[in-house]
Amino acid sequence: MLTKEQAEGIKKQLFLQIEKLPNENKEQIKKQISQLNEEELEEFLKENKIQMQGSPEGGSPQGEDPNACLFCSIIENKIPCHKIAENKKSIAILEINPLTKGHSIIIPLKHETIEKLPKLSMSLAQKIAKKIKTKLKPEDIKIETSSFQGHAIINVIPLYKDEPPKKTKADEKELEKLQSILETKKRTSRTDSTIKKTKPLKNLKELSFRIP
Ligand SMILES: [Zn+2]
Repeated sequence: MLTKEQAEGIKKQLFLQIEKLPNENKEQIKKQISQLNEEELEEFLKENKIQMQGSPEGGSPQGEDPNACLFCSIIENKIPCHKIAENKKSIAILEINPLTKGHSIIIPLKHETIEKLPKLSMSLAQKIAKKIKTKLKPEDIKIETSSFQGHAIINVIPLYKDEPPKKTKADEKELEKLQSILETKKRTSRTDSTIKKTKPLKNLKELSFRIP
């Protein structure tokens, strides 16, 4: 049987992976998983044929890429970030070394060059710009693309009167505050109570993770 610690660790890893699924019921699945006890969790893993890395019957561990891209790492949840919005093709986060207050970046989920920047990433940038405009009331907003380690991103930089852009390390508290101001709240699904307990979990077969 799994220990309490193991179960907690597994749940955490599951949540991170579920976050990446193109699944409408993400929040519902997470809620279900969080309510499982150790025994139920083990049963659930078996039922969904989820392989556990590092366990005796587990799958092969995925090799860590030493040249991993910063933005890919953020998308894979390997690096914490202050997410404010997302869509099918990209996420929007707060820059931790902002040029101005509210400087946000849109990261396409796929590691691609500026030429292949998805339209949906640009529309997310515009959405964020609009939000910044309403909430932070800058004089102007600059939207510009850039690329780091070959991964294109879009910068959304609010411009304030008499405050020339200057790269500064943001304070954690300040970032949290901005995040709560700019964050797009997720809508809760009305069908929550009608979903059968195991149904939305079928899509989880692809997941693999290790017992901590
Ligand atoms: Zn990348």
